[in-house]
Amino acid sequence: MAVPQIPGVNIEIINTGTELLLGNTLNTHGAWFGRELFKLGLRISRQTTVPDGDAIRDSLEEAIGRADAVIVTGGLGPTSDDLTREITAEVLGLQLITDEAALRSLEGFFALRGKPMVDANLKQALCPVGADILPNPNGTAPGIYVPPRLNGQSNCAVFLLPGPPRELYPMYHAEVVPRLRALAGVEAVSEALVLKFTGVGESDFHDGIDAQLAAIPGLEYGYCAHIGEVDLRMIGDPSALEVGRKITLDRFGSFLISDDESSMEKTVVRLLKERRMSFAIAESCTGGLIANRITNVPGASEVFTHGYVTYANQAKTDMLGVVASDIETHGAVSETVARQMAEGALKASGACIAVSVTGIAGPSGGTDDKPVGTAWIAVAARSGPTEAFRVYHPRNRKDFKLSVSQSALDAIRKRLKTIEA
Ligand code: AMP
Ligand code: MG
Repeated sequence: MAVPQIPGVNIEIINTGTELLLGNTLNTHGAWFGRELFKLGLRISRQTTVPDGDAIRDSLEEAIGRADAVIVTGGLGPTSDDLTREITAEVLGLQLITDEAALRSLEGFFALRGKPMVDANLKQALCPVGADILPNPNGTAPGIYVPPRLNGQSNCAVFLLPGPPRELYPMYHAEVVPRLRALAGVEAVSEALVLKFTGVGESDFHDGIDAQLAAIPGLEYGYCAHIGEVDLRMIGDPSALEVGRKITLDRFGSFLISDDESSMEKTVVRLLKERRMSFAIAESCTGGLIANRITNVPGASEVFTHGYVTYANQAKTDMLGVVASDIETHGAVSETVARQMAEGALKASGACIAVSVTGIAGPSGGTDDKPVGTAWIAVAARSGPTEAFRVYHPRNRKDFKLSVSQSALDAIRKRLKTIEA
């Protein structure tokens, strides 16, 4: 991992809510902000979770002493433990006054729903003098933005945002992003590039290109490994990213899944669409996972026609025409059966291209010759020969299925790449 050198804004997040510390609600805001800020070339330097009430005071005092911007979530509600607004004003030494526009919009919110507004809601229209009210079209709690140096002291910008994701996310995009961009200075905001690879490991990158990437001035980069995939994230100005991209793709271009964060399945659907090709899947050991992944992609119906889950030998014979005696002779997990499954799926569906998988998920059923984790994958197409290959993913059942589905989708991806769009 290269040392961060990117200029930017030092951002801290404070998540308030007793439910987050009791484990009743999973604190997803930290991860969500991490991903969203990353898209702006920014990152979180610290995340703190505090219970409702007074506990926010210490964290806020500390955070504004360190950070350029602090984002606080939650505690803007009408109840007595919703104290974020009050404590922030106190810590920053700012007086709270009723914001007339916020009050009118609060009244409008209740009127629209035919509900009376209770006095407790009045405090939701309070705003520190000189701060901005951030409208909340999806709830009663408006957000608040306190710009840096509003009181002549703190050099830190403070955002107070509502806790519920359906209120927080739109407010972030509409109100927080433009202000963060302005704080960072448009020129200073770095861009981010994520290259997704499969079939190579982190150590290949380390041995292959790490030294070259490290030598690019102003480029920060890091790897993130998932099952069947390694993401290379690069952050920097556009010219540094371009140099990094070229070095990486010159070496590992054939393993690239996407350069726009598209998943493997999204990439496969795109390649099929570009080639106007229909697609069928014959699955044994993955139990429908490949079809599931493909149908998670919007627009999959334009290309995906049939998914056969042929778990038992009988199903392979009945649905795909696999020769029963070949299963006897070679075993269900074999090159012969994988080939017949792919060709059978192609024929039965009438699709342009088909992939098949058959493997041993375990924990039992392995042999010396075919240990648990072995799978055969075949790709058959209307033009060109059927191709089959063996993979070995000795993992637990769930991870085995995911790995095999990844290998199968990658096989389709590679085959499609050889066909002109
Ligand atoms: P609040 O604005 O504090 O009233 O938040 C109300 C609701 O928002 C909570 O009950 C949670 O359902 C949700 N929420 C608040 N904070 C978080 C968080 N950090 N992660 C996920 N959900 C949250
Ligand atoms: Mg709360």
